[in-house]
Amino acid sequence: MPVFLAVGATSSIPEMTPPIRGLTLANLRDTFEEIHNGQRHEAVDILEPRGTPVLAVVSGTIRKLFHSKPGGNTIYQFDEMGVYCYYYAHLAGYMEGLREGSRVRSGDIIGFVGSTGNADSRTPHLHFAIFELGPEKLWWQGKAIDAYPGLVAAVKRAK
Ligand SMILES: [Zn+2]
Repeated sequence: MPVFLAVGATSSIPEMTPPIRGLTLANLRDTFEEIHNGQRHEAVDILEPRGTPVLAVVSGTIRKLFHSKPGGNTIYQFDEMGVYCYYYAHLAGYMEGLREGSRVRSGDIIGFVGSTGNADSRTPHLHFAIFELGPEKLWWQGKAIDAYPGLVAAVKRAK
């Protein structure tokens, strides 16, 4: 009998550090499957006060700084091997000096929580997602992976 491996299961989640300093499990909810604005959310929203530093969850490269209508100020970060892309959205702004191509280490401040794009200005939050990149390694094209289990593991490890 052929053996099938679960796709998108926790086995495929790379190890991360928390994107917010002092993040707790109480501040995490699995909203991957929720429908937001007519689309599957495929991300985790972390509610934090405006201006809270956002930290790189892995070491790697800032691939793209992009302003989009839904995402506002966003960061697309690749890991060292270019296997996964980490997406941070609704940022109030970027860390000073951050550029496309900047090398960052896990835990470095890369931006600040805000409500740019389609986020409600009364609930600033970090919209965080992970994409598995295809062979072409295009920052705008990847398979969404549920970031929630990886974030839970990161919070537990950080304690
Ligand atoms: Zn979101």
